Amino acid sequence: MLDDGRHLPSKSVMFTVDDGFFDHHDVAARVFGEFGFTLNFFLITGFLDLKLWPWDDQVAYALHRAQPSKVQIKMPSGAIFPLDLLNNEINDVVYSLRSRLKKESQSELYDWLETELYPVLKVECPDEIPPEYKPMSWDNARTLRDLGHGVFPHTCTHRILSTLPIEQRQTEIEVSIKRVAAELRYAPEIFAYPTGRLSDYDEVDVEHLGKHGIKMAFNTVPGYVRAGQNCFELPRFSLPCDSDDFRQIVNGFEAFKMKLRGLAKPAA
Ligand SMILES: [Zn+2]
Repeated sequence: MLDDGRHLPSKSVMFTVDDGFFDHHDVAARVFGEFGFTLNFFLITGFLDLKLWPWDDQVAYALHRAQPSKVQIKMPSGAIFPLDLLNNEINDVVYSLRSRLKKESQSELYDWLETELYPVLKVECPDEIPPEYKPMSWDNARTLRDLGHGVFPHTCTHRILSTLPIEQRQTEIEVSIKRVAAELRYAPEIFAYPTGRLSDYDEVDVEHLGKHGIKMAFNTVPGYVRAGQNCFELPRFSLPCDSDDFRQIVNGFEAFKMKLRGLAKPAA
């Protein structure tokens, strides 16, 4: 429909689930399946390959296990970032460290976790992915696709593309597409950018996705998909916890609210 410049039927909804955790297969697919909905899964392929688990979850894991104290963390850029686990809520500290890491070069991020974050916090770096953070298996992914769900790539390591040198970005895109193609024996045409803010990818990535057969890509900017939309910048609402909020998104009331908020903004 987007290719033809047509409007999507009103109340069209597509559900997407990013990253590929085990409970996306064990729980989400089952619950949505009971109501006859298909889901679209975006998988971190290095996670399903058991080579790593997502860096943002590792930050939370390590901070939740650290002794309450004040520590100085040396960021990948060399800058010192103070963490106060004595006087702050742990979730606030997790949020601030993750936000800071999103601004850093993420090229060596997984090494940095092992050589800096875990040691400074005096938390043992787990040899294996902890059970609560396990991925689904490739067999699970194949089952999902057999059941009619969509299964697509979401990079190999979940690092933010725009923070990486060009060759690494290309590898993230190319290898994750190839891993999904090899395991599921089909050519995926849809992709989702890790973190997905407008600053997290650029036209270099879009061009590279196109070269490898991708026709649509999702970011995480909240919004509706409309006729004429750039297919490589499809917005998504995050699923609200409250079903009233969900209804407001689906019935279009949220569009009205967004318009009002736009009107309320002073002209730049
Ligand atoms: Zn993700």
